[in-house]
Amino acid sequence: MTKRTLLAVLAHPDDESFGPGGTLARYAAEGVDVHIVIATDGVAGSVVEAYQDELERLVAVRTKELEAAVAILGGTLHKLCYRDSGYINDPANEHPDAFIQADEQEATGRIVQLIRELQPQVIMTHDETGGYFHPDHIMCWKITTAAFHAAGDAAQFPDLGLEPYQPQRLYYTAFSNRWVKFAIFIMRLRGQDPTRWGRNQDIDMTRIGVDPNKITTRIDYRKYWEVKRAASAQHTSQGGGTSFNRLLPNWLQKQLFGRDGFMRAYPPLANGRREKEFFNDE
Ligand SMILES: [Zn+2]
Repeated sequence: MTKRTLLAVLAHPDDESFGPGGTLARYAAEGVDVHIVIATDGVAGSVVEAYQDELERLVAVRTKELEAAVAILGGTLHKLCYRDSGYINDPANEHPDAFIQADEQEATGRIVQLIRELQPQVIMTHDETGGYFHPDHIMCWKITTAAFHAAGDAAQFPDLGLEPYQPQRLYYTAFSNRWVKFAIFIMRLRGQDPTRWGRNQDIDMTRIGVDPNKITTRIDYRKYWEVKRAASAQHTSQGGGTSFNRLLPNWLQKQLFGRDGFMRAYPPLANGRREKEFFNDE
């Protein structure tokens, strides 16, 4: 059997665990060579310049958490080391080193290089909404989609000195809005405003998630539920993934949420077709 390789390009330290961590753990356990690219250092944009020491300390903390999480998932980590951009309208977005200020061609070239070196059949990244419109997530979608189509073209990025290589499939992460709608219902019952959600009250829950009909691929990772939990728990500076659903017992969460949704971007699945695997013959 040919070696199977999966390359995931995600924005922040914790996206690999809180996001499609179960899927990454499952494929690693099944013998797939799993590579996880994290674009930013994960430092919340709000730390001001005057606290450079604090910033460096936080980068070190989050790097350690990330390395431990990726080791638990069973992947190989690649860090692009851009500066974390903030959420929409955050002043951190203006920082010259912020990921979203990076030269798109340069950033795309770095993904092309990884694709040509690692030769993955399957690439996965955030979708065009970034899940919740985080600019770093959207930047990952942009450069990874461009890199997916450029890697096999010898005329593009010839200076890398690597043979062109065309991966077979491109997937975007997708969170069904069915659960979001349920969460919004609960929030309204509790008198909370779903349009002002999150630590900074700047996330509009009503715009989050995709129509379940758009989800082409569902990966069942219930067998690796505890691996995802253990990896998520490494991100203690981010709450360790425990804030979501303290109300439900673990076994029920596993049954309800133990599948990751994806949209197959390339090649598109024929109308209405659905799949349960990244690596199959369709
Ligand atoms: Zn993120």
